Amino acid sequence: MPDVKNLCAKIKMLISDVDGVLTDGSVYKGSAGEEFKRFTVIDGAGAAIARAAGLNIALISGRHSEATAIRAAEMKITELHNGTLDKRGPYKEIKEKYNLKDDEIAYVGDDIIDIVIMKQVGVPIAVANAYKTVKDISVYVTEKSGGQGAFREAIEWILIQQGRLEEVLTALQDEVQNPPETDPYH
Ligand SMILES: [Mg+2]
Repeated sequence: MPDVKNLCAKIKMLISDVDGVLTDGSVYKGSAGEEFKRFTVIDGAGAAIARAAGLNIALISGRHSEATAIRAAEMKITELHNGTLDKRGPYKEIKEKYNLKDDEIAYVGDDIIDIVIMKQVGVPIAVANAYKTVKDISVYVTEKSGGQGAFREAIEWILIQQGRLEEVLTALQDEVQNPPETDPYH
């Protein structure tokens, strides 16, 4: 058993896959070719919690999607790599841009294309609906499935391991009660 507290203590950024993590993997197609995905506000709040904690968030999606771009903007996630099947390129870019080492990064994934990154990062996390091979290489498997709050669970789990979830939630609550110009929840 890896010492997850020690692993998580170093984490400065959480990178997440999109389809199957922020969603259940479904893509709805309209007759005019438009595309719909179902996201949950629970994960939107998760992004707000990460921001309050100073934990950087990035998304790397293997499949380009406007719906993903719109949702990322709503969640105020600016580091979006939308549509790169080989995730090693975006991963390297993110690492260099934020000046991070592998062991300062956590990654949440569900499918085999995530494995190459999950084997590099300090804290690989699988969602409940992930393929077994993905779960096998992870240090934590969320109880919730993709699209049902797994992303937020991963964020809160890291903060729990870091021993600071309570203080972050209290700070966020203060912010909600004394709101700035914009609502931190989306
Ligand atoms: Mg996926």
